[in-house]
Amino acid sequence: MAAKEVGDIVSLLSTDERDFLVDSNGEKVPISDLQGKTVALYFSYPYFRTCAEFTPVLAQIDRKLKEVGQSFEVVQVLPVDEKVSYNEAIESTSWLAVPFNDQSVTGLLKHFGVNSFPTLVLIGSDGKTVDVNFTELIEELSGEAWEAFLFSQEKLDKLLEKAKAKREAQTLESLFVSGDLDYVIGAQGSKVPVRELVGKTILVYFSSLQCPPCRAFLPKLVEHYHQIRNVDNAFEIIFVSSDPDRASFEEFFSSMPWLALPFGDERKKSLARTFRICMLPSLVALHPSGRTLARDAKQLLTILGTDAYPFTEEKITEAERRTEEMAKGWPEKIKPDLHEHELTLARCSSVDYCHACEQMGIAWLYYCTKCVYSLHPQCALKEAEMDKEGCVCDGDVCRKI
Ligand SMILES: [Zn+2]
Ligand SMILES: [Zn+2]
Repeated sequence: MAAKEVGDIVSLLSTDERDFLVDSNGEKVPISDLQGKTVALYFSYPYFRTCAEFTPVLAQIDRKLKEVGQSFEVVQVLPVDEKVSYNEAIESTSWLAVPFNDQSVTGLLKHFGVNSFPTLVLIGSDGKTVDVNFTELIEELSGEAWEAFLFSQEKLDKLLEKAKAKREAQTLESLFVSGDLDYVIGAQGSKVPVRELVGKTILVYFSSLQCPPCRAFLPKLVEHYHQIRNVDNAFEIIFVSSDPDRASFEEFFSSMPWLALPFGDERKKSLARTFRICMLPSLVALHPSGRTLARDAKQLLTILGTDAYPFTEEKITEAERRTEEMAKGWPEKIKPDLHEHELTLARCSSVDYCHACEQMGIAWLYYCTKCVYSLHPQCALKEAEMDKEGCVCDGDVCRKI
């Protein structure tokens, strides 16, 4: 997003009937209190897990900035029309929000061109937006990102530089070797030294037998694995298990043709922390040098199939292009027969869920602002457009039958 002149924060956030926002207890707070402060407009849709993941990080940044005495406020903008969900979303925070069901929400979404959640728009005390993708920056820096909010372009550039250096310095050994623990295991528990894997493209696969989407995804991943290995042997997957007991781990691992961290291995914690894993299944792609290529390699595989290999910047750009392409011609809002309310199109992550086919989403979902409900565009549109022609949607693609 290019820097935008927002002007006066009061006229941006108020309406003819309202000159206040609400705090987490629902108490009115005059918008004029925000004058002279840096304001982060936080657009979030609480049912997307990406938002559930992002909210605590933003809360931490908010706390840190207040601690060092910054004039900073988060204003949450929630496109939900159901009071209970709205209350739940604001209750747990310590920041402000545009009131429930307020007419300004649609206008704000439009004004800032928001079509994916979470989106963070930062407005400086001078009434100008800052030309940085803050959601990406936080993704990159996590807890350290608060420093970026004491912003000057110079400071931001330094932080991005630091994030880049950190990324470049990561190796397979820095990730997977901890004291004597310098191996992973293969079938029947045979030890494979980490140093033997250096120079390969690696997928780190966080998963658990207990999680239905993990079980659903496994056969597809096995297929991709064999196809990729057929063309390039310098490729490996390492399973990092979240199974609560050894029996589940062994049962699940026995159906995988690749490597794993041993059950109960302490390295799991640092890996999950490094990649900020809070949902399963997650698939992180590592370059042969060990640096991170993609934190959501699952989405890449879903969009590009085996062509996603070797998960490079070029492939990520291609997936992004196809994702945008995909949505061309899809209406912004629809009213499918499957659901009683109108649904809105938005970007989603690969873990968001379709209520029709009960599969995870691929890049886009139509979501309901009134209740917890979302549909794949393929599932939402198929009655309207494709059923006549005899199509089926298996959750990944719609195909003619
Ligand atoms: Zn679906
Ligand atoms: Zn609904």
